[in-house]
Formats: sequence, C-alpha cells, structure tokens
Amino acid sequence: MRLRQGLVAAAVVAGLAYLALRTPDPTPAQPSPVHRRDFLAMGTLVSISAYRGDAVSPEQAEQALGDAERSLLDFEHRWSAWGEGELGRINRKLAAGDTVGIPPDMQDLFGLAMEQTRKSRGLFDARIGNLVWLWGFDDESRYRSEPPPAAEVQAALAPLRGAREFEPGKPYGPAPGVAWDFGAIAKGYAVEQAVAQLKRAGLPDVIVNAGGNLRAVGRHGDRPWRVGIRHPRAKSPGEVLAALNTDGDEAVLTSGDYERYFEHGGRRYHHILDPRSGEPARGFQSVTVVTRDAALADAASTALFVAGPEHWRDIAARLGTDRLLLVDAEGRVAVTRALAPRLEFAPGIQYQVVE
Ligand code: ADP
Ligand code: MG
Repeated sequence: MRLRQGLVAAAVVAGLAYLALRTPDPTPAQPSPVHRRDFLAMGTLVSISAYRGDAVSPEQAEQALGDAERSLLDFEHRWSAWGEGELGRINRKLAAGDTVGIPPDMQDLFGLAMEQTRKSRGLFDARIGNLVWLWGFDDESRYRSEPPPAAEVQAALAPLRGAREFEPGKPYGPAPGVAWDFGAIAKGYAVEQAVAQLKRAGLPDVIVNAGGNLRAVGRHGDRPWRVGIRHPRAKSPGEVLAALNTDGDEAVLTSGDYERYFEHGGRRYHHILDPRSGEPARGFQSVTVVTRDAALADAASTALFVAGPEHWRDIAARLGTDRLLLVDAEGRVAVTRALAPRLEFAPGIQYQVVE
C-alpha cells in the first residue's frame, strides 16, 4: 500500500516535471505526435514517451508502446531476486547449496555485472542479494524501522569476500551465502532493451525512463528531448537540479539516497549499500552519470555513489566515465568539466565545476 501511494506520488512528480519541461506542440489542432505511457515496474515508475513520425500510424505507435510495457513487466518478473521468476529460482538453488545453469538469455547481464564488479573493485557487486535482503530494501513491504544488528550485517557480508565469480557459459556455484540482485544495473539494462525494441517497431524517437534512469534516442520533433535531473532533497513536486537537452543518443542515470530508505534516530538508512562495510554508503545524496550505454551507466552510478567524495575520481577513470553530476552528503553540488556545458541549472543552485 505504502509502495503504491509512494509511486502514485512519484507519478505525479514525474508528470509535473515533464510538463514543466515541455513546450507547446507546434500544431495543437493536430493529434499529438507524442505517445506516452506510465506504469509501475521494477519497483519504480516507468514512463515511455515516443515522438511518432510519419512512418507509423497512431495505432501502431500505441501497439509498440504496449509491447514495450509488456516486455518490461516480463523482464521484472524474470529478474526479481526473490520472486517466482528465473532469478528467484536461481537464488533459491544457490541458497540450497546447488550449482546452477544460467539460461543463455541471462548470460549477457550476468557477464556485464561481473565485469563492472571487477572494474569498480567491488564497489558495485550484484552478488550482494543477501545483504539487500537483510536490510529489507528488496521490497517496500519489508522495510525495517531500525538497522539490522551488526553481527547479522557481518554475517551477510562475509560470503561476498572472495565469492565465486560468474564465468560466461559455465554453471554458477556452489556459492554459499551468495544471492544475485541486479537492482543497481537492471533498470539501465531494461531501458536499453526497451529503446531497441521501440526502434525495431518503427519508433526511433523515444525516451524510456525508469525512476530517473533513462535512455533517450532521436528527437522530440524539431527539438531535442529535454530531461530534468531530480533534486535529491526536492521540496516540491518536480523540483529539478538541472535540465539537459539530450544529444540524440544518450543515457542519463541517477543513483540517489531518496529512492528507498527509512529513518531511525535522526539518520537516513537507504538502499545503496557499501560492500566494504555492509552499511548504506554515506558520502553522497545522489550521483548522475551521462553516457551512451544505460546499463553501464547504471552500474557506474552505484559504484561512484559508494566510492564517495574521496574516491569517485579513481573509480570514474576505471569505468571510463567522465560526465558526472554529484551531490555530496551536505548537499554541495559538483559537476565535471565534461558535463558542465551541457547542463542548465535551476535558479538558485550553486555548483562547482570539478575535474
Ligand atoms: P536507484 O535505485 O536509485 O537507481 P541504484 O542503481 O544504485 O539506485 O540501485 C540500488 C539497488 O541496487 C538497491 O536497491 C539494491 O537492490 C542494489 N544494491 C545496493 N547496493 C549495491 C551495490 N553496492 N552493488 C550492487 N547492487 C547494489
Ligand atoms: Mg545503478
């Protein structure tokens, strides 16, 4: 119930942000060339917008959006860590001490996640499922009212150290204490797939946005797609830090401490966990990565968030990403030199350009 209310509120916020950024269509008397669909998937609000050219009819466009929605819902089912789908089955088998074959169509994402784990020196690690479960962040109905006991955190963390790596084409396991959770890369991967599916259906001008993790291709008619980057401490619906005109093929992904959290003793405990301590990572409120590949950017936003203000440069270099917007724990905003010229900051936002 709380989840649904939260998501409805998010839908309103997203809708308002979209309206705020939208300028009137040039020919208001015509049926709008923009088709849009909002729905809940992967624990967040997903919104698909497509600017329809002359190649497809309005009915074909609606059909394509409906197909993309169904694919995303199937994806969610297949990849949820503890559900009835394939990943839930894999994790239950691992918990029973088994070795599991990874289906061919899941190899790609397992491989990508493993590669990002190595590159980020383990700050992003999709084998973190049991720790996420312990903190209760896998599902809003399981959020805790206080942090788990330190001994339980350490017990969930220990198996990650030296855990078996995934090797493409090989069965995985046995891996005691390991459960896979693709929460930090799956939204990016899914929006990539949805955009490719919409392109194949004759819609080359689309945005797919999963809770601030988005991929945009093409244009909104005669102008670029314009997207807002959420203020991590937004006080009003749709409050953005900055806006960005996308360049025709771009992914914009944000990891924030406001997506899933509870408060206890005046502290915020959120869903991005530091695999070194087992606790929520403390250095940032949000990290936004702008690049081409949404899956890689999703993993990168998480790894950089965990790296914190001291170490993000090293991890960004290792991950090959340099267009970043960072908000630290005190709310100070920094933008890298490579991204700064692309952003239009909201009035009153102070920021520093960093290397
Ligand atoms: P957001 O949900 O704001 O897009 P992320 O992309 O960072 O944020 O994903 C956070 C999710 O990823 C968590 O809900 C959890 O399922 C999982 N997760 C948390 N910490 C890590 C980590 N260090 N490495 C990999 N996955 C993580
Ligand atoms: Mg991420």
